[in-house]
Amino acid sequence: MIFDREFILQTLQSLIRIDSRNPGLEADAPGELEIALHVRSLLKSWGYEPELHELGERRANVVARRPGAGSGPSLMINVHLDTVGTAGMDEPFSGTVRDGRVYGRGAQDTKGGMAAVLALARALGESNEEMAGDLVLAFVADEEDASIGTADLTARLRTDAAVVIEPSGLDVVVGHRGFGIFRIRTRGRTAHGGRPDLGVDANLHMGLVLAGLDELRRDWEHRWVHPQLGSASLHVPVVGGGRHLFVYSDACRAEVECRTVPGQTADETELELRRVVERAGAGRPDFDARVEPVMWRSPHAIDPDLPIVRALRAAGGRVLGREPSLGWHGWWEDSGLLGEAGIDAVVIGPAGGGLHEETEWVDLDSVVRLAEILLDTTRAYCGAEGKDIQHD
Ligand SMILES: [Zn+2]
Repeated sequence: MIFDREFILQTLQSLIRIDSRNPGLEADAPGELEIALHVRSLLKSWGYEPELHELGERRANVVARRPGAGSGPSLMINVHLDTVGTAGMDEPFSGTVRDGRVYGRGAQDTKGGMAAVLALARALGESNEEMAGDLVLAFVADEEDASIGTADLTARLRTDAAVVIEPSGLDVVVGHRGFGIFRIRTRGRTAHGGRPDLGVDANLHMGLVLAGLDELRRDWEHRWVHPQLGSASLHVPVVGGGRHLFVYSDACRAEVECRTVPGQTADETELELRRVVERAGAGRPDFDARVEPVMWRSPHAIDPDLPIVRALRAAGGRVLGREPSLGWHGWWEDSGLLGEAGIDAVVIGPAGGGLHEETEWVDLDSVVRLAEILLDTTRAYCGAEGKDIQHD
């Protein structure tokens, strides 16, 4: 099948022209409801019975299923509906085309990919080609912030594998870093600055903790190393304590951000931080500190020999004339949540530039190629039955 480039372009422009900024990032942002309704009506027009899952005010996922005969593996294609903000952009919602590039917020991240998924949806919706396994098309909210969309999805349904659409230049991404946020608090005792016999300085005690965290950071550079992702890291983006001069600080708080590699777990990382705190307090009877976990998003890595990865790379080879490279991302993606839910999740998306920047664009050819790769992958993975399974 050859996809209609003009249809893909128009679909992409219709998506860019709907503002779907994530309200978790900007207070006045509209959320995903409008674009979710647009996607739902497109899917309905091609014969699907899509479900809209509301996730709070103006937040929603859209999920459509194309049932297979029941005898093959099931595949989810997961693409996010939200975008980051538009500050500083001249024409965030234009969808202007110049030299094969389509411009606008979300063009590459990830409305270009969404247009490819919709082209796939239309092609399969309008054909009666039977497949052995189910195909689930998931258009999710909130990837750019707290991932409430994919989190809700994993509570509702499971597939054997998932292709997550994110910018990748058509590389097949088999792993990414995770992140963890922890809060450390030290408690002191307020007293007049001239009464060291009464006061306990929470800020100085935090200083001891911070020195220990720096040692842990350096230790991770050698101890937690992944051949493709490099070493794990941590930093302390926020620290604050004390009230004013002449008063012993009674409380200090530090937010610790860990960027993790496959193998690191939430429990083990929390334990490592607790040990830092313990060592900082050794021999100081007035030392009082605790570690609280705030958020954990697992690092992700899957075996490049799994059927979904092989299917995607083989499809890429047929469509592009060369096998796509395997890729690794330094940042977290929703594939981490799907991986935790036991789903073999791999990432692919179109080429472009300007992610989260003032001029974002996507390469239209790569969007068309992506649609072809997704169709070929779906047929190969879900088990096309009968004829016409080859690309022409
Ligand atoms: Zn994205």
